[in-house]
Amino acid sequence: MNTWQERDLAHIWHPCSQMKDYEELPPIVIDHGKGIYLYDVDGNEYIDIVSSWWCNLLGHCNPKINESVKNQLDSLEHVIFANFTHKPVIELTEKLLEIVPKGLNRFNFSDNGSSAVECSLKMAFQYCYQTGHPEKTRFMCLSDGYHGETIGALSVGTLDLYAKIYNPMLMDTIRIQAPDCFRCPYGKSRECCSCECFEHAVKSFEEHAHETCAMIVEPLLQGSAGMKIYPPLYLKKLRKLCDEYNVLLIADEIATGFGRTGKMFAFDHAEVSPDIMCISKGLTGGYMPMAITITTDQIYNAFYDDYNKGTAFMHSHTYSGNPLGCACGLAVQKIFKEDNILQNAQINAEYLHSELLKRLGKHENVGEIRHIGLINAIELVKDRSSKEGFPSEMRLGYEIYKKALTRGLLLRPLGNVLYFNPPLIIDSNEIDMAIDRCAKSIEDVLGK
Ligand SMILES: *Cc1c(COP(=O)(O)O)cnc(C)c1O
Repeated sequence: MNTWQERDLAHIWHPCSQMKDYEELPPIVIDHGKGIYLYDVDGNEYIDIVSSWWCNLLGHCNPKINESVKNQLDSLEHVIFANFTHKPVIELTEKLLEIVPKGLNRFNFSDNGSSAVECSLKMAFQYCYQTGHPEKTRFMCLSDGYHGETIGALSVGTLDLYAKIYNPMLMDTIRIQAPDCFRCPYGKSRECCSCECFEHAVKSFEEHAHETCAMIVEPLLQGSAGMKIYPPLYLKKLRKLCDEYNVLLIADEIATGFGRTGKMFAFDHAEVSPDIMCISKGLTGGYMPMAITITTDQIYNAFYDDYNKGTAFMHSHTYSGNPLGCACGLAVQKIFKEDNILQNAQINAEYLHSELLKRLGKHENVGEIRHIGLINAIELVKDRSSKEGFPSEMRLGYEIYKKALTRGLLLRPLGNVLYFNPPLIIDSNEIDMAIDRCAKSIEDVLGK
């Protein structure tokens, strides 16, 4: 251990970690980053194939984003956002308006994904209350869902790993069996099904829609569940069902937004709009904590009245609309256009998937390599034909993660699912290198 590591472990409690693991694997002290690479204080290089928890969009220390932040820093770092505003937030809102799904045009700023989700839940609840439906107090969500770590967000999250112990603290939500395309109970495949599994949603709506204000989903990609991917048809059907039953549809696009799925937003694949959309992660290119809950005029107008009616949305976060975050967001939008980021990422996405298939598709422990946009998930299984997984006590993903670190790849797994979710600027040489390092790490642990 170097002295930085000792000083870190003396007082710092890292997120989502059993700190005892750090005795064996101390925190890697990163000195600087450039593009898709991170460099530690000993000069080791790591390809950041997970975009530093899915937020880095256009590379570390991107010169254009850096310049934008530096310029903003010399005029305004932050200002109270109630009754005050500033140019970067107005410009960013106008730019985002051009790209978000149709109908979404009211922007409520916060400072992290979980907060944006909390905001969406409160917004939906209060909307129903103020439009004559005080009986609609509950939320629906999919099994295997993840929406953040605060109490409301955990309540609509359904992954035991994060939520189970807090159950007595959580809201009683209505859980709908999510699609499971890898192990489809109907024997169908993602590419040619009619979303037979949607029957679970229909049943829950029949039973509970009258008491439900909103349904929240991670569109197309259930990230924390192990990058589970389901078809756009499911969202189309959900939109229709929500309309039929007067239930609001909340899109948690925190992980999927800004080109991760090959289109700007995952909902774009389904060609429908949600009533409320949460964005964060890629919004600032992974530079600053910022999030937005975006909604329609219809919802906004239900809050709009004389002050003494008490219908205002009394929700706030100190750092709402932070100008430095907005400066990053503006630079990101500019780069997307100028550098054709989406189109290039689509080309590289095809390359990445086909090369991964070539290198790892036949490995006896690779159950599936599923993909959407540049995101590729490798689900490791004990047996390919039965799709039986490895026991979680084995911590197989973690063992491969440790190997990958020694080979210069940051491959933080989700259980026994390894995934690539790289910055959109990754090029084909870098893809080759990442795949090689990943494959060798898998072979180190599981053999060829
Ligand atoms: C990361 C994430 C969140 C939570 O965002 P934080 O900024 O970590 O609070 C919520 N929903 C989804 C889908 C996410 O991927």
